[in-house]
Amino acid sequence: MLRKELQVHTFGELLSYFPFRYVDRSRFYKITEIREEMTFIQVKAVIRSVQTIGPPRSRRLVATVADPTGTLDLVWFKGHKWVADKLIPGKEFVIFGRPNRFSGRWNIAHPELEVPSDQPPPLSEVLRPLYNSSEKLKAKGLDSRGISKVMKTLLLLEKFHVPETIPVEILQSLRLIPRQEAFVNIHFPESPDHLKRAQARLKFEELFFIQLRLLQQKFLRLHKQQGHPFAHVGEFVNRFYRNHLTFELTGAQKRVIKEIRADLGSGKQMNRLLQGDVGSGKTLVALMTMLIALDNGYQACIMAPTEILANQHFQTISRMLDGMSVEVRLLTGSTRTADRKEMQQGLVNGDIHIVIGTHALLEEYVQFKDLGLVVIDEQHRFGVAQRAKLWEKNRITPHVLVMTATPIPRTLAMTLYGDLDASVIDEMPPGRKPVVTRHAYESRRLELFGFLKKKIKERRQVYIVYPLIKESETMDLKNLMDGYDAVVREFPLPEYAISIVHGQMKSADKEFEMQRFVIGQTQIMVATTVIEVGVDIPNASVMVIENAERFGLSQLHQLRGRVGRGADQSFCILMTSDTLTNDARKRVQTIVHVTDGFRIAETDLQLRGPGDLEGTQQSGILDLKIADIVKDENVLKYSRNLATRIIEEDPGLERPENQRLNRHLRMIHKYEHNWGLIS
Ligand code: ADP
Ligand code: MG
Repeated sequence: MLRKELQVHTFGELLSYFPFRYVDRSRFYKITEIREEMTFIQVKAVIRSVQTIGPPRSRRLVATVADPTGTLDLVWFKGHKWVADKLIPGKEFVIFGRPNRFSGRWNIAHPELEVPSDQPPPLSEVLRPLYNSSEKLKAKGLDSRGISKVMKTLLLLEKFHVPETIPVEILQSLRLIPRQEAFVNIHFPESPDHLKRAQARLKFEELFFIQLRLLQQKFLRLHKQQGHPFAHVGEFVNRFYRNHLTFELTGAQKRVIKEIRADLGSGKQMNRLLQGDVGSGKTLVALMTMLIALDNGYQACIMAPTEILANQHFQTISRMLDGMSVEVRLLTGSTRTADRKEMQQGLVNGDIHIVIGTHALLEEYVQFKDLGLVVIDEQHRFGVAQRAKLWEKNRITPHVLVMTATPIPRTLAMTLYGDLDASVIDEMPPGRKPVVTRHAYESRRLELFGFLKKKIKERRQVYIVYPLIKESETMDLKNLMDGYDAVVREFPLPEYAISIVHGQMKSADKEFEMQRFVIGQTQIMVATTVIEVGVDIPNASVMVIENAERFGLSQLHQLRGRVGRGADQSFCILMTSDTLTNDARKRVQTIVHVTDGFRIAETDLQLRGPGDLEGTQQSGILDLKIADIVKDENVLKYSRNLATRIIEEDPGLERPENQRLNRHLRMIHKYEHNWGLIS
């Protein structure tokens, strides 16, 4: 039961099923004191009336209770038969639960009921733990209260013993309480102070072992995992640099290429994360890196998350390499069978030097003569297992360069990519004007259309982007089509031509529409976020984002990055409905005022928490039980420092003083299989 509902399999895991909050059960509220923002309240009230209402299928039990100040409804949707017997009018109860407001009245659904006692509440009631439960468990009596009872039984067992996982010296130097004491106090805090210390101990433990794991992996990779030694830089790089590069590299690009070269020459396998804001020039870094691979007699590939993006990389890179004897090919889902066969040949015998593609690269039949480097663009779109597949293509793991334009806040990077090395391009190519960003309410749409007409008259191109969110795909699509119709009406042929691209179109059609926009046949591109990543059209200088309140911060930032690529002033206009939630307003304001992708990412992390950031869901690493990488940034930092020191001194954790660490790390490993795959 617990296993299925809560994913709890062992006593250890049960003990690690921590309360999600603590409530003060010694405090009673008056009914008139209830406020919207209260998540839990406790009142003492008398039953006035009890009735069953609603049609048979959704019958519910409603009890109205009163205290001297007002009345409140208690509602049960399920399991009300056994409750009903208790609810005798005139009887007083202590009622506890989450208040809701419904047609002007307060109600509590499925409250906890207790008979009031004359005793003053014990101290532990000041910090009564609340556990998440499920409907099924509640029906079996395992509501929060029930779980708490199970914990108590467990903790009071004679032979109850929680093995310590952290060496005494560390506990002492960090003033952390022993593990057993922490577990007891997290479930039954003796006092707020005890609770705080229990939390501190358990948060540290959680983050510390993650870091130990990541750093140990990194150490092993660096010291055991052989890498292709790319010892020299030769003709490919030199010729490209001298004759094909039409601009000076930025300082940041130079620095990053240097870091990469050091990795490649080390004889160890490179595993590097390259972060750089949209438009910072990552593609060029990727290209130079690939040329180093070629100079050393190896092949290279780039994997992009969408066909459009792969295509664009292919175009850009072919163009930049024009006139050099480098064989570059494109492999996507729409590559014809005949071409694919021919490519298969060329990859195996080494005639093809660089292949650019989508997931299609992961197919069984794609084999290389000597794959030395894998570049992964916009990596957060790829699952971890998918990435691992590419590695398997060689006896010696190829070097890996992972590129992302979604800046990852440092704390998150430490946890999520803690075993990768990181490079940052923190400088934009010269001559870029910052994009002017404005927020406009729906009521100003006419003005918007006027502005777009003016820009189009100046021969600029315009994007109009609509949200497309999976759960509501059909509704969003309708939204997009309505928007498209309105645009068509406002911008009629032959004066204006409009492209439309969305996720449900065939990829050939998408390609066609996209291409018309790229070559300037159309002035307006109406699209969903499929254009979010990578697309590079310097003449497009206006980005209109419809329903901007529905986009996440990093998505908005990415979209804005589609403009501002040419020499003239670009604009990003965030259209929103006339009323906004606080959260939405904050997001919109952030984009209007902040241009630095890293700062935006930090804000995003604070607003949404790590669980919702793209790329974190699949990783599993961020299923933290107690720590919070935003709030516990400090704990994260010192646990990382300490872990670094320990792994440097004793990478295998073999010394006697590290035995506890070793044992616990192996135990965690047994239960969490997917960890090893992260890079
Ligand atoms: P991203 O980091 O978003 O992938 P790109 O690699 O697409 O950025 O580069 C954006 C644009 O900037 C491209 O048109 C590219 O040719 C140009 N670019 C890259 N590096 C430089 C540079 N050092 N100086 C001038 N333009 C550059
Ligand atoms: Mg790019």
